[in-house]
Formats: sequence, structure tokens, C-alpha cells
Amino acid sequence: MKIEKVEFVQLSGTRTGPCPDVPFDHPDLAKTRKLTACYVRITTDTGLVGLYGPVFGNETNHFIPLARLLIGRDPLQGEMLWNEMFRRIFRFGHKNQYDLSALSALDNALWDLRGKHAGMPVYRLLGGPSREKIRAYATVMCGSWDPAKVAEQAIALRNAGFTAQKWMLQKWPLWTQRPGEYTRCLTLAQNVRKALGENYDLMFDAVMSWDLTDALRLSRELAKLNPLWLEEPLPSTQLDGFKRIKRETGITMAAGEHLYTRWELKPFLDAEVLDYAQCDTDWSGGITELTKICALAETYGVKVIPHGSNIMSTLHLIASQPDWVCPMQEYLLGAVSDSQYFHKQPVLAVGGFLTFPTAPGLGIEIDESKVESSETICLAP
Ligand SMILES: [Mg+2]
Repeated sequence: MKIEKVEFVQLSGTRTGPCPDVPFDHPDLAKTRKLTACYVRITTDTGLVGLYGPVFGNETNHFIPLARLLIGRDPLQGEMLWNEMFRRIFRFGHKNQYDLSALSALDNALWDLRGKHAGMPVYRLLGGPSREKIRAYATVMCGSWDPAKVAEQAIALRNAGFTAQKWMLQKWPLWTQRPGEYTRCLTLAQNVRKALGENYDLMFDAVMSWDLTDALRLSRELAKLNPLWLEEPLPSTQLDGFKRIKRETGITMAAGEHLYTRWELKPFLDAEVLDYAQCDTDWSGGITELTKICALAETYGVKVIPHGSNIMSTLHLIASQPDWVCPMQEYLLGAVSDSQYFHKQPVLAVGGFLTFPTAPGLGIEIDESKVESSETICLAP
């Protein structure tokens, strides 16, 4: 079996009605809206096809050099293909999120192809499933972030079955320095904790938007709320700042969605600043790289809970690992449902848990009835 063709398939359609998995009012998501999604498709000379998407960063210039490398190659030769693509990125002096996202998407599409070749879901090829279903934690990406209104949404999520939830304490860089925002962030966190009680897993995400001074002040206050973790208080370039926060506040910390590959994660593990690593199957080198990140993190006693940009790849990785290595799946409220709009069988949280697709490969199948227009772009040959 040889790879013959690598393509982008771009779909667009119109979604009407709200996302079924968001248990509170969310006016923006209730509107009729245009959705687009891009998939990478790898076709072999036997007719077998690997499909992955929606892909992050669908610019052809990041994909073409890697796609060309795959032409004529055996798609089962996964380790070798990953290494060749990774070294190709370095050879031309690149290594940014877009290049690694292209590598990740191609790697994930190759896993889909291998699963279909073997006639089994990818998590089976990876040694899973390790359990029957996966606990999902809700990341609040929609609704209100007004501290006076968050209690109602937090309780709605708990009532929907979610046993853990994460709230955003940011909007954009240096957010806490804007008038009133430091206090708003802290009040939001305190109100959510009060609404959910002490024995509920609660997380906060700063999305790298604080400076060290505010990060230290806020971390001391947030530590009193006993969060499961505080996420990315600083940009991932500021390891020394992470060290200071850990040393001075002792707060449990998570980061990794902006650390690409095992080599960028390792200094954070060596520095003992992380309790959870969140490297993403879409951004950090694909399923192949994440299996290595899991092995590496486990040696440090750090759990891996991948960032949830596309659960159709993370789910297979998590399902292959014991729950003490990968205990949960991030569930981006609204985004999970929208990103799978074109799929025949979207995987959505039910009662706070996710079950695994059973189809061979990753389980992504396009529902043509939802596609209003599509365009295919050849990446290679
Ligand atoms: Mg995050």
C-alpha cells in the first residue's frame, strides 16, 4: 500500500438552533450561523483513505512540504514518517504552531488510515480502551462571565452531570491590568467556588494573559479556593515565572497547550512546576507524539489532560492510557459540538462523560446532507 494523494477538503454549511450540549442560555450559539471546516485526506493506491479534521491552521504552505514527503510511502510506517516530517520542518528553520499543526493533522490522518486498514478504532491499535467511558470537564467558552451570573451557569453544568469545570480569568494579554479586571476575575472565581461548594473539581485558566506581579497576587488568592489547577498564568516562554509562582504560592498548575513536542515540555517537567500537562494532539505533533509525551510525563508523576481542540484525536489517545496517566478530556462548551457539525456521529458529552467511537479509524465520517458547498485542494503530488 502506497500513499498516492494528499488533499484538503473544505466544507461549508449553515447551522440552525443551539448546541445540544450547553445546558444554559447561550444567545450567540443559538443564532443561525455559517460554519466552515477543513479536513486533510490521504488516499492510497488501494483506495483506502485517511481523514482528519477540522484541522487547525488550514494554510496550504504549511502542509505542502510535508504532504510531498508522504507520496509513494507506506502509510503503516508511522514512526519513520513522523520523524521525516518533523526533521523537514527544522531543515527550513521553521517550527511554529502552524507547522506542527500541519504535522499533527497528517499524523492523525495516517492513524485514521491505519485504523481502517486494521478494521479497528485507533485506541485499539494504541492498546486501549483502558475504560468504558471518559470523564469530561467542561470549559466555559460561552454564556456570561459576569460574576453576578456565573453561579447559575456553574450549577447548570453540575446538574448536567459534569463533575469538573474550568472558568476563564482573562480576555486578552495583560487583562488583569485593565481597570476593575483583577477584582472581576477574583470575584468570578470566588462566586463559582461558593456556588459549587468545596468538594467539586474546579479549574481556572488565565490563557497566558497575566503578568508576573498579578499572577503572584492572584495565585495566592486562588490557592485559598483549592482549585484542581490554575492554567497558564503566564506565557509558556516564562518558565522562571512559573517557578516563582510554584515556589511562592504552592498552587497546583497546568500548562502545555502552547508547549509543542516532548522537547518543549521537558524543561517544565524538570523544573517541577506542572501537575498537569496539556499538550494537544492537534498542535504538539499528533497522536504519535502524544503517546511519547504520556510516557515522559508519567516518569515525572505528571498527568496528561490534552487541550481539547479536537476530541476526535484526543479521545483515542486518552482511551489508550490508564486513567492515572490521562484522567480526563477537556470539553470546550459549544466548540465541541460546532466542530463536529459535519460529522455523521458527533461525539458529545452525556452526563459529563464521553463514550468512544466504535468505527474503524478515528470515527470521522462526513454527513453530506449538511454540506452546502465543498472544495477540494490538492496538496501533493
Ligand atoms: Mg487553556
